[in-house]
Amino acid sequence: MKSHTLNQAKQLLHEHNLCDSCLGRLFRKEIREGSNSEKGQWIRTQIHEKQKIPAKDCWLCEGLTDEIHHFIGLIIKTLEQYEFDTFLIGSKIDEDIQEKEQQLWIQLTLEGAEPIKMEINREIGKILEPQLKKTVDIPNPDIMAIIDTAYDVVTLQISSLFIYGRYRKLQRGIPQTKWPCQICQGKGCKKCQYTGKLYETTVEELIAKNALKLTQGTDESLHGSGREDIDALMLGTGRPFVLEIKNPKKRNIDLVSLEKETNSTFKNSIEISCLRFSNREEIARIKAAEFRKIYRVTIEAGQPLNKEKLIKVAQSLQGQLIKQFTPTRVAHRRANKIRERHIYNCTIESVDGIIASLTLETESGTYIKEFVSGDNDKTQPNLSELIGIPCKVKELDVIDVKGE
Ligand SMILES: [Zn+2]
Ligand SMILES: [Zn+2]
Repeated sequence: MKSHTLNQAKQLLHEHNLCDSCLGRLFRKEIREGSNSEKGQWIRTQIHEKQKIPAKDCWLCEGLTDEIHHFIGLIIKTLEQYEFDTFLIGSKIDEDIQEKEQQLWIQLTLEGAEPIKMEINREIGKILEPQLKKTVDIPNPDIMAIIDTAYDVVTLQISSLFIYGRYRKLQRGIPQTKWPCQICQGKGCKKCQYTGKLYETTVEELIAKNALKLTQGTDESLHGSGREDIDALMLGTGRPFVLEIKNPKKRNIDLVSLEKETNSTFKNSIEISCLRFSNREEIARIKAAEFRKIYRVTIEAGQPLNKEKLIKVAQSLQGQLIKQFTPTRVAHRRANKIRERHIYNCTIESVDGIIASLTLETESGTYIKEFVSGDNDKTQPNLSELIGIPCKVKELDVIDVKGE
């Protein structure tokens, strides 16, 4: 250690009472080995300063460095009800302590002094790791405990729990995600019978119900890989989703029994499968993924349909590129532009008078209703134009979401 630094330390101790931790922390870069408190002790010996200052008399930390075990007790108590594998400690230090600390750095032109905040966080983490048998994870902890030293309280930041799965929707009339009542914006009014909701239930709520119960989470969010219309079924192997559970108390839940329980509770409405634990990154993956969709479409025409004509049109649609201007029905929430989409396959299943049933395989993001009706020529080419008879979708179901 340079003699200049020792002189600085000596001068400093003349001006202020400092505990070993605070003294060591200020000059920690000058000494290689030991904790801040050991470093402080070493400096004191070097400058023949015999009087040891207890933390409670320390001008800088006012006893804070002595309270680590007290904070640990508080944190353990707050964490009691939570399941987690990784954690991180954070702290909010009294502002006047931080100001005094910064003032010393400037006065002594210290570079590399450690903020007291970091010492508190690190020392607590070091003791808690073996005690809790959990790991400190800096970028991605399951739970973060933040100690507010001025008020002696611990607040928790709990990472969401993510569950991947696929869902089938077996009943019409259920939207995918929650919609707030448009009159009260979710606050609850006469119109929505004080539920705050536009629809009685949603795929989201059905999928989340048992998961929320098991995890004791406070809220949830369903991230689907696209969405089907409210009145469309979702069949086949189902649509990929990631369910996000906010503030879960339990994380190590049994996904096999969650799947079974959910499927038996909502037997004729929804069905989930392939559950596994996931992460936030997967939301972006399934949102961005361009899965091909296979639909079963029942159309209703303005006059009786000719089967031969329909089959000819269907054949001409293999691999056809169509251009769709943003449909009128979604214009309020989607940007107005022309989207180019492929029809990969079109097969006529049955024709009966003005009703026909067909299977359509299309590129992700194709507006099927508009492809059938033409949407006032906003979709080109379209089925109505090709067969020469105006028609519209009567029933639309997603039979499969392909290729994940
Ligand atoms: Zn101190
Ligand atoms: Zn309302």
